[in-house]
Amino acid sequence: MSGKIQRVRGTRDLLPEESRVFRFVEESAYEKANLYGYGEIETPIFEFSDVFHRTLGETSDVVSKETYDFTDRGGESLTLRPEGTAGVARAFISEGMSQNLPLKFYYSGPMFRYERPQKGRYRQFFQLGAECLGYDTPHADVECIAFAWDLLKSIGISGECTLELNTLGDAESRAAYREALVQYFTTHQEQLSADSKTRLAKNPLRILDSKDEGDKKLSENAPKFQQYLNESSQKFFATVIAGIEKLGIPYKVNPFIVRGLDYYCHTVFEFTTDKLGAQGTVLAGGRYDGLVETMGGPRTPGVGWAAGIDRLADLTPKELALKKEVLVAVIGADDQGEDESVKLAHEIRSRGIKAENFLSGKMSKKMQKANNKGAHYALILGGNEVTSKTVTVKNFVTGEQSIVQRSEIATFDFKI
Ligand code: ATP
Ligand code: MG
Repeated sequence: MSGKIQRVRGTRDLLPEESRVFRFVEESAYEKANLYGYGEIETPIFEFSDVFHRTLGETSDVVSKETYDFTDRGGESLTLRPEGTAGVARAFISEGMSQNLPLKFYYSGPMFRYERPQKGRYRQFFQLGAECLGYDTPHADVECIAFAWDLLKSIGISGECTLELNTLGDAESRAAYREALVQYFTTHQEQLSADSKTRLAKNPLRILDSKDEGDKKLSENAPKFQQYLNESSQKFFATVIAGIEKLGIPYKVNPFIVRGLDYYCHTVFEFTTDKLGAQGTVLAGGRYDGLVETMGGPRTPGVGWAAGIDRLADLTPKELALKKEVLVAVIGADDQGEDESVKLAHEIRSRGIKAENFLSGKMSKKMQKANNKGAHYALILGGNEVTSKTVTVKNFVTGEQSIVQRSEIATFDFKI
């Protein structure tokens, strides 16, 4: 380590105010999860590398460039989780839960990707997410999206977000579409970015997800999935759309949403915003019927999503997240008063009211600190008050000051 001690690039320190917004987002999500019957699951932060490498696809951005892989002291190849779904599917298999389907899981926690850090894009970031396993009906997709929408509403950001939907169809439709894409992109091969040349051979669909400007231009004129969907895939998507409309959730169909990971089929969706600059996707997900089987488990359909908490918290109106609650400062005017002030603060807290002592500096400094901290009241105790069993109560909001009997503080109505 050289010189100054610093944070690792792409990580963040969440200071108390930011943490409160994070917590608000997580608590709102947890509450909605509970309403929808999603039970919380906490999987390990690292897994055997195969859990991610095999399932997300070696050509996905995440696996090809972004994972934190390491060998532990026992020689095992491990990976810090870059996302939540593969870990949940691994737990589903290794805990033998397939007899209990359907199952719905909710999770929240840190994820790790070696990316180019910028606002809204970190190397350790936080996601919360939902996975619904065991339903192959499109109604499950609708319910899953409704859960996401309710969450965005409850944290006051649904007005800033647009639901964008697409379908990747079933395997047969994807094979037909893949062929059409290979044909199209092969004729424009020289114009493709280096990454997309590799994608063309391994997973041409992913070219549509490229962030390269040249690739994007080519993609605009590429054949559209719609023409290659077989009848049952069309029907599946139509049912999802009808369900979303029935619930009154605004949406638009965006044929360029293909999602970055290998395991998706049928419904894919993103909630995007134009309020966060380049990092506009706040929540993304889709159906992944083949995932559990790819990992060696029984064929199990699934649908789910993950949201970036860093991005959700950025959008959340602070006045909604930072709950208003009364704060009482308890201040000693001299040694005797200070002694008593600790006890008085303790009593106030036992009523479930926030109380803080301000213990250093002159009286004026203590009052100033209390005011800066946002205290609504100051209770002042000096030797005189201790002897006469009274407390001086100053209301910071109105500026009024009065003498109150010590015994009355126990029932004093502290108001904001
Ligand atoms: P992007 O296109 O922004 O790279 P992604 O497709 O890689 O996103 P997902 O794997 O679908 O993202 O993750 C779901 C959500 O997690 C994203 O929509 C975003 O809100 C959040 N997210 C993903 N990567 C990061 C990151 N590096 N930093 C902060 N949030 C992230
Ligand atoms: Mg990414």
